[in-house]
Amino acid sequence: MRRSEPRGSERRLQHLKVVAREAGLKLTHQRLEIFRELAATEAHPDAETIFRAVQQRMPTVSLDTVYRTLWMLHDLGLVTTLGPQRTGVRFDANLDRHHHFSCVRCGLVRDFESAELDGLRVPDSIKRLGSVVEAHVEVRGLCTTCQRGQETSKGKHPPGTRGG
Ligand SMILES: [Zn+2]
Ligand SMILES: [Zn+2]
Repeated sequence: MRRSEPRGSERRLQHLKVVAREAGLKLTHQRLEIFRELAATEAHPDAETIFRAVQQRMPTVSLDTVYRTLWMLHDLGLVTTLGPQRTGVRFDANLDRHHHFSCVRCGLVRDFESAELDGLRVPDSIKRLGSVVEAHVEVRGLCTTCQRGQETSKGKHPPGTRGG
């Protein structure tokens, strides 16, 4: 069922290098590590989560650098974002057509693929609201961890991952 092959992140890294070269962008060690972190996960982390992860390997990295790098990658079309808001926005290095399952309790987000959902037609009435860039389906529910936590009183699942 899981179709995101482990080679996915290697492929994303190669793509990054090509795009960066064409854009004349210098791939510093920090930028590479930030992208590598995002490319290796399906968790759709926010900037602070990525910051905490890369900080383990590079204590000198700053949250500001992480933010700037992520938005730079975004402007180059190398990552996409979830959620409309600028703060707490989450990043996604999976550029293949896919949809999202998100847990309403812990905020976990996972990719899934569906030929059926890919075929969904966006209604013409959308034109009144604006032009469409892309459309995907977000399925909301309780992840298996939270489901288990509901059955047995309080789960060990970490509560909300970020503060305001
Ligand atoms: Zn959950
Ligand atoms: Zn995704």
